[in-house]
Amino acid sequence: MDRQLTLMAVHAHPDDECLSTGGVLARYAGEGIRTVLVTCTNGEQGDGPGGVKPGDPGHDDAKVAELRLSELRQSVQHLGIDHLELLGYRDSGMDGWDANKHPDAFTNVPLDVSAGRLAELMERYRPDVVVTYDETGGSGYNHPDHVQAHRITVAAVEATGIPAKFYYTAIPKSAIKRMVELMRESGTGIDFEPGDDFGTPDELVTTVVDVTPFIEHKFKALQSHASQGDSISLLQMPPEAQRAAFSHEAFTRVLSRVKTPDHEVDLFEGLRP
Ligand SMILES: [Zn+2]
Repeated sequence: MDRQLTLMAVHAHPDDECLSTGGVLARYAGEGIRTVLVTCTNGEQGDGPGGVKPGDPGHDDAKVAELRLSELRQSVQHLGIDHLELLGYRDSGMDGWDANKHPDAFTNVPLDVSAGRLAELMERYRPDVVVTYDETGGSGYNHPDHVQAHRITVAAVEATGIPAKFYYTAIPKSAIKRMVELMRESGTGIDFEPGDDFGTPDELVTTVVDVTPFIEHKFKALQSHASQGDSISLLQMPPEAQRAAFSHEAFTRVLSRVKTPDHEVDLFEGLRP
């Protein structure tokens, strides 16, 4: 019997799985490929019920974590993900927040400890393909937990030598430009002005996967994270801009132990029997 192919996506917070990898997780799960989502933190520094921001009165870290993990479980169902693995670290918050100093914050856990736990998961699931963020935490995002997710994944991939292919999520600069134009043309007044360092230079993008049939799954997954106002604001975009943002997922291939063309439309290119 053929061994089941496996995709592992490593993300920082509950809700990060949706936008950059929700389509590939849903698509490959639908093809019978085993899908594993590793979420590194509990998202304590997200919005609380009623939109209470971290640091504001009434923001209860434990309650926020509980709510976000239940939202994550719904999202996982919408995307058809087979296995959810929680590393359970504390959300470190954005750069400069007090939460950065918490001893249990993800970024304060020694790398060999957190990467060691991820390596154990790689040993258990033996993923053929692993996906996480680039060294900026994803196309210039620079959230400390995203950068740390990148670091532990690189370390675990190196330590185990298990995945045949390893990718970073990418948002091509050309796609961002198109989005900005669509938003302007829509006349909805929603303005989206990304900084120059946001986005992946197009020449670094090796792989673009069409996930158009799974747009609805991504929507539902994102809607599951209803407590996170910033994330779900994307659901208010005009339909053409939404389609442009949701229909394709792009990646930079950083490792392949199998022969692959320079440009692919499938993360499992070269791995299928
Ligand atoms: Zn995040």
